[in-house]
Amino acid sequence: MYLANSKRYDQMKYNRVGKSGLKISALALGLWHNFGSVDDFENQKQIIHAAFDSGITYFDLANNYGPIPGSAEENFGRIMATDMKSYRDEMIIASKAGYVMWPGPYGDWGSRKSIIASADQSLQRMGLDYVDIFYTHRPDPETPVEETARALNQLVTEGKALYVGISNYNGKQTEEIAKVFEKLGTPFVISQPRYNMFNRTAESDLFPVLKKLGKAAVGFSSLSQGLLTDKYLNGVPSDSRASKSSSPFLSPAQVEETVATVKQLNELAGQRGQTLAEMALAWNLREPEVASVLIGASRPEQIADNVAALKNLEFSTDELKEIDQILDR
Ligand code: NDP
Repeated sequence: MYLANSKRYDQMKYNRVGKSGLKISALALGLWHNFGSVDDFENQKQIIHAAFDSGITYFDLANNYGPIPGSAEENFGRIMATDMKSYRDEMIIASKAGYVMWPGPYGDWGSRKSIIASADQSLQRMGLDYVDIFYTHRPDPETPVEETARALNQLVTEGKALYVGISNYNGKQTEEIAKVFEKLGTPFVISQPRYNMFNRTAESDLFPVLKKLGKAAVGFSSLSQGLLTDKYLNGVPSDSRASKSSSPFLSPAQVEETVATVKQLNELAGQRGQTLAEMALAWNLREPEVASVLIGASRPEQIADNVAALKNLEFSTDELKEIDQILDR
């Protein structure tokens, strides 16, 4: 039987989500990779335990996470039922709808039909009565923004979600949908953009809007899928994401393109007494709008390395300048 670490809340930082009453752990665990039906179930359990034992309270899922799509929610549901049931009220569990999930016109995008049906399926797969946050996974150019917003609002009024989030919405799209949420009184609190040293668009586009609206961001691919760690310094290890056929989103070519920059960043991290993963996460958290950074993990040890980022979150002006220079080269 799993018994959580009694000191789990001592090492983690909890940040307020914009101007809402909700706080989330500064690091969050995402189940996009490593939790599918192709992955070792015992390892999945160990990763979830390691995360919770480190004080991580936020667990991020989506309808399509796997492979196969849906299997990450199923596996997470099994772990909830066997190990985590008594900790449910200590957890923020999120899911999303918006990328292709089932065949035909209703298994994709942001219509009322897709979102309501998908949320019901997610709850069933996870064996939950409600999720803490339900996200629209991406903006739908063909569905009126009011329809997507009303569907999310309905999930809240039906008690299937406590809060609402949006993901992959740019600044303008965020302002647009926020207006509708405001009118409906929807508890829209959070935005989930890609944010890491290699992807900084949100700094000039989304974060100023979130600041104005009093909302927070939880950044995804915070380590650029592992590029911003020391794992690819000497090539592509056979057990890494870049070499796995079940992970087509990171290629050895991307490793090659970035390795010179990564080596310089790694050196700077060493001077700060951190691993590169720790420095990269601390750097993401320097943005005031970033309440939490989403990490993935293929093994429990990576959680410990990543949580250690919290030991040094401060950057001198010179260090920030040097990082900018390295990234611009
Ligand atoms: P990361 O950028 O954190 O990459 C995770 C991968 O990096 C791990 O699986 C592991 O890969 C490697 N890694 C992690 N920590 C370390 C470490 N300390 N040392 C060495 N390698 C390490 O995040 P993801 O790209 O996985 O995204 C995180 C979450 O964000 C997702 O699970 C999902 O919840 C969310 N997300 C949301 C999206 C959206 O559209 N809303 C899109 C993408 C992600 P390896 O297998 O090589 O060990």
